[in-house]
Amino acid sequence: RAKDGGGGRHCQFEPILHASAEERRKLELSLRGALERHEMELQFQPVVDAKSENIVSFEALVRWHSPEHGFVSPAKFIPVAEDTRLIVPIGRWVLRKACEEALAWPEHIKVNVNVSPEQLLDPDFTDDVVRSLSETGLHPQRLEIEVTESIFLRDASVARSALEQIMALGCGVALDDFGTGYSSLGYIRKLRFSTIKIDRTFVKGAEQQSAESLAIIRAVVAMAQSLDMTTTAEGVETIEEAELIRALGCDKIQGYYFGRPMSASDALKLFSQADRQRA
Ligand code: C2E
Ligand code: MG
Ligand code: MG
Ligand code: MG
Repeated sequence: RAKDGGGGRHCQFEPILHASAEERRKLELSLRGALERHEMELQFQPVVDAKSENIVSFEALVRWHSPEHGFVSPAKFIPVAEDTRLIVPIGRWVLRKACEEALAWPEHIKVNVNVSPEQLLDPDFTDDVVRSLSETGLHPQRLEIEVTESIFLRDASVARSALEQIMALGCGVALDDFGTGYSSLGYIRKLRFSTIKIDRTFVKGAEQQSAESLAIIRAVVAMAQSLDMTTTAEGVETIEEAELIRALGCDKIQGYYFGRPMSASDALKLFSQADRQRA
């Protein structure tokens, strides 16, 4: 944590979760076989329409319950999984499981699945998506893949063609954590992202009356609208933030205020409750 010079207000930093080399080695050992030992779980966080506040989607978020390390945050083990390419089988499991769960929801509800660069650049990725959709029977339009700007750092043309194949299937592609990476407007021009997810640091900034954060959110919303893309604001935690984000014209909102990541069965219960109320 750091204080800024003048007002003494606390700046919000992401907690530093980089594991030490020794810790990473231990995590890596345990991570091998974690899938087979059924230590992975998927949770689902609601994404709501900003105006109606109805759920429009759930983002699938992987959880690892390790007998050796306890609960390990994805911020800690995903980088290890990426470095070791264990993310490829883990990501394949996430994709398949997310499609399976989504099938039980009402048909207008989508599912968002995070995909790492290593996974996207794997030659089998498109086939994995096709197989998950065909074997579960989930309509391609109900799946939105989430990628961050980091996918364009390594092999931009391969990443781009993989995303184009996914889009050709009818799936959406969201640009996650927008504004925190090596943002290149060039890729926004070349690829028809369905959604731009505005990183939660801008949402926090806007609520703290940062003129810069407000201006950036406004600009991203305007850009997305003119390019026929939708926007989702991430990390909305309070009613004040929700109202501000709505006023700024974001289409969708995700954050603790509307719902924390929850188990698949709790997500499903949200619909049966709504159905009971209607009946
Ligand atoms: P992300 O894709 O940007 O996901 C949103 C993260 O923000 C999640 O953290 C979520 O729990 C958290 N979040 C949601 N609302 C709020 C809020 O109101 N306040 C705050 N402070 N946080 C909020 P989580 O689940 O710990 O995941 C962290 C990151 O790990 C994800 O960021 C994503 O980059 C990665 N990740 C998670 N699951 C997967 C996966 O299945 N595959 C891959 N490749 N990456 C994943
Ligand atoms: Mg995401
Ligand atoms: Mg995000
Ligand atoms: Mg993130």
